[in-house]
Amino acid sequence: MGDSKAFISTPREVSKKRPVSERIHDWKEVYLPMAPDTLKTQASRCMDCGVPFCHNGCPLGNLIPDWNDLVYRNRWKEAIQALHATNNFPEFTGRLCPAPCEDACVLSINSKSVTIKTIEQRIVDHAFEQGWIFPEPPAHRTGKKVAVIGRCFPYRTPCPIRQPAVADGEHPAEEVARRAAATRLTFV
Ligand code: SF4
Repeated sequence: MGDSKAFISTPREVSKKRPVSERIHDWKEVYLPMAPDTLKTQASRCMDCGVPFCHNGCPLGNLIPDWNDLVYRNRWKEAIQALHATNNFPEFTGRLCPAPCEDACVLSINSKSVTIKTIEQRIVDHAFEQGWIFPEPPAHRTGKKVAVIGRCFPYRTPCPIRQPAVADGEHPAEEVARRAAATRLTFV
């Protein structure tokens, strides 16, 4: 636990956005990087809960209090190792995930949650900058293939992109099978 009183004394901060007038001219990051000292202070707000609800909120079971503490202590290499222990692609989830971990954070019961997503993103960005991340192909390939099929949300609302939507009474698994057959995907 970074600072045992930071969750009381330090308010939550989030990354600032670049001005819209600037963003409309490029496809670069919307958010500005958080200053290192601010990030460290934000990480210190984590209470290292005995029952960390953030673990349950995260579908990956990320070891959030562990890497919050490691960031606070400037132990970035261990932080990326802890992050990669449960997450293969924090460079995506640190940006695109809706962060249910933050909604689940115990601190959000009567205050504002830890800025978990921002910390996650900074850990992986820092690791890339330091050259700590490189391809790790498997020593042995099985030869099997996996098909990943996404879908629009909410279920049963006609998808504006991929028509037709789920037919009345159709089970999601049936829909997946129908679409797989239509696109000649093979499940192995
Ligand atoms: S629930 Fe919030 S305060 Fe508790 S360990 Fe997780 S991130 Fe830290």
